[in-house]
Formats: sequence, C-alpha cells, structure tokens
Amino acid sequence: MHAELLMIGSELISGAKLDTNGQWLCDRLAAQGIPVRFSTLLGDTLDDNVAAFALAISRSDLVVTSGGLGPTQDDLTRDALAKAAGVGLVQDDRALAMIEALFARRDREMPDRNRIQALIPEGSSILPNPIGTAPGIWMKTGIAHVACLPGVPRELKAMFDEELVPRLRAVGLGGRVIVNRVINLFGLGESEVEAQAPDLTARGRVPEVGITASDATISFRIRAEGVDEADALAAMQPTIDAIYERFGDLIVGEGTDDVAEAVIALLHDRNKTIAVAESCTGGLIAHRLTRIPGVGPVFPGGIVSYANEAKTDLLDVPADLIDSVGAVSAEVAEAMAVGVRRRFGTDVGLSVTGVAGPTGGSPDKPIGLVHLGLSLDDHTTHRRLSLGSEQPRPVIQSRSAKHALNFARLGLLGKTP
Ligand code: ATP
Repeated sequence: MHAELLMIGSELISGAKLDTNGQWLCDRLAAQGIPVRFSTLLGDTLDDNVAAFALAISRSDLVVTSGGLGPTQDDLTRDALAKAAGVGLVQDDRALAMIEALFARRDREMPDRNRIQALIPEGSSILPNPIGTAPGIWMKTGIAHVACLPGVPRELKAMFDEELVPRLRAVGLGGRVIVNRVINLFGLGESEVEAQAPDLTARGRVPEVGITASDATISFRIRAEGVDEADALAAMQPTIDAIYERFGDLIVGEGTDDVAEAVIALLHDRNKTIAVAESCTGGLIAHRLTRIPGVGPVFPGGIVSYANEAKTDLLDVPADLIDSVGAVSAEVAEAMAVGVRRRFGTDVGLSVTGVAGPTGGSPDKPIGLVHLGLSLDDHTTHRRLSLGSEQPRPVIQSRSAKHALNFARLGLLGKTP
C-alpha cells in the first residue's frame, strides 16, 4: 500500500514557493502507516494535470493533491481529475450551500465565479472545508482513492486531520500507528558506528533503523509500527536494548543531540557544579551550557583565558610550567581545570587549550591538536585530541567544545581514566 502526492500550483515550479505541504503530508501519511512513493510538482496546465492524475490513479492506492481548488481560471484540479477519471462535473448542492453560507457570514455577495467551487467530478463527494471557501474532493477512481485538498497550508492541515483521516480508516487505508525514536551517540565516527551495527542498519530490517550524522553526533533513528502505540513500542524495544548494550557509554541521550544538555542533567542528578576554563574555544563551552534553561544552579561561570598571562593571572597556572611545556599541553590543561575549579569552588573543573589555526601550528603541535583537562573528586585527568589540520577554525572550536563537554559527561559517569 502506498500514496502518491500531486502538488499543484505554478508558484511551486517557478521557484517562488517551497512545497511545504508535501513535506507535511509525507510526514502525516507515514504516521498513518501509508508511505509516500511518488510526489510530483505541477504547474497550472490542464494537460499536464490530467496526465499526472491518470498515471497516479493507475498505480497508487491513495492520491493526495494540494492546490488548484480556487475559483479562478488557473484552478484546474477538479477538471483534471474529472478528465482523468473519464467523467463530467456536477454541481454539489451541499458544497454550494456551504460556499453561499460562508459569503453570507462575511456579509459579502457571492461572486458568480465561486459557483465553480461547488462543481465536483461525477461519482465523487466533497470534503468539507471548515475554514476556507473551497471544499475538497473525495473520489474512488482507477485503483486509487483520491483526496483533493486546498493549497492554503492551514486549510490543508485541518482538512487532512478532520476529514481525510476518518475516511482513510473507513476504506481500510492506514490505521497503523508509527512510532519513531532517535538515540544519539557521540565519540565515534559514522563509519565506525555503522561497522559495529551492520545487522541493525540492514535494508529491510523490521523495525527499520537509519543512521545519520550531524556535527559529529551520530543518530540512530528507529521506526516501528503496530496496531497501537504500545504494540509499536514493544516491537522496537529489543532494537533499543541492542543499541544501548552495544554503544552504552557513547549514548548522549534521546531526542536531543546536545551533549551540554546531557552534562547538565547529570550535574543536576548528582547535585554537582561545574566551571570551565577556555582557551581556544573562547567561551563556546560556556555558551553551550548557558543556552540551556535552568543551568544556573550547576554552572556558576567560566573564564576565557586566551593569553598565557590570563592563564597565570586568572587560573593560577604557573608561568614556568607554560614556559617549559607550552600552553597547548596536557600539563597546562590539567592546571587550568584545577585552577578554575578552585577559583569558582565547584565540584568539577573543565578546560580546553589547543591550536585552532589557521596559523600557529608546528610539527610537534599541529593545527587541530587540543588538550582537555578535567578535575573532579580527588583526581585530575586529561585527554588529547587530534581534530585534523585541514579543518577550518570554527569546526575545530566547535568539535573541541563538544568533546570537552563529552569528557565531563564521561567523568561524571566515572568512565574517564
Ligand atoms: P484557495 O482557493 O482556497 O486559495 P487553492 O486550492 O486554489 O486554495 P492555491 O491557490 O494553489 O490553493 O494556493 C493557495 C495558497 O497556498 C498560496 O499562498 C500558495 O502559495 C500556498 N500553497 C499552495 N501550494 C502549496 C504547497 N505545496 N506548499 C506550501 N504552500 C502552498
């Protein structure tokens, strides 16, 4: 069983308007258990519309159209459907009464041309439009059930939910419940994750698992269907368990890809506070933490210590340590973490120092070399990152911030060395 969309309107193919109705319909139909296999954008040309309708009703169980139901000459949907179905147009008295009533409510006389909107193909019925003038059309023709909806997004959405969904149920289309869940991982590349999960992401697997990457966060998207929500959730549970079992510590959370959110949730949970000392990220970690509402009780603040003097004056990093091992080093990262923790009196101190480029790299300290420091409980530890000398400065900064937050997350979980 599948659906096909015909999205009608010259503005859609001229580039003037984006087909957002199509995206919304694909999403809603999928949630009904009816996948969309084809979607066509069409201008206001009768022959093209007739051809598209003829093809659609010969190959798809459900055809949903958007647009072209207005009273003007370029509104051709009703004519095109009638021609493709090989029938004439007839006046629907209920539709006419609805349109007349709408004009009366607005205290306006109905222009004659609006009568066109009460014409529907023989053998079809109307889909009442609760908020606009143009009623939609509902028709069985070819192998398809056809639903013609207006182009105005607000009207299309209201009619889909109120009028179309019950009719789909009544003719036995859809009715299954689809549940989606997203589990986000951070700390491994997409290909490494995929290599560890070939059975999960195999084509045709039930339930379906997709994998996507965005800003180094890897997401598993699990989609399951069932007769009701509980049934769909039960169908996906073994897959969820398998992902948690295999990728445990890498999992940042569900629904969000925000490592900062995971850190803050852990801090709240454990009643702990964090302060950050940032060199190459210039405040990005503090920004990511403060983006999240409710961070106040766990994050008193941070220090951007870019110059060596700032590391010494504001974080008590010994000047001779910087002289002997350099500002970008494990030792200085650790000293920054200890310093910021002491200055703010927090339970956790987190730090970053690195070479973000595009200049300033050297053979032993190339661009992309970043050291993270973490001070918590009675120990201090560090991590060295090589983010790649070819990466642009903003990418190195963003990745450093994300890795640093993840370092704190793992530390709070007791998973750092
Ligand atoms: P009505 O006669 O009630 O205006 P209609 O069915 O004739 O409805 P159109 O005239 O094609 O619809 O479009 C009405 C409005 O909806 C326009 O502003 C148009 O840009 C917008 N629209 C049409 N199709 C889409 C689409 N696929 N995605 C987003 N917006 C759309």
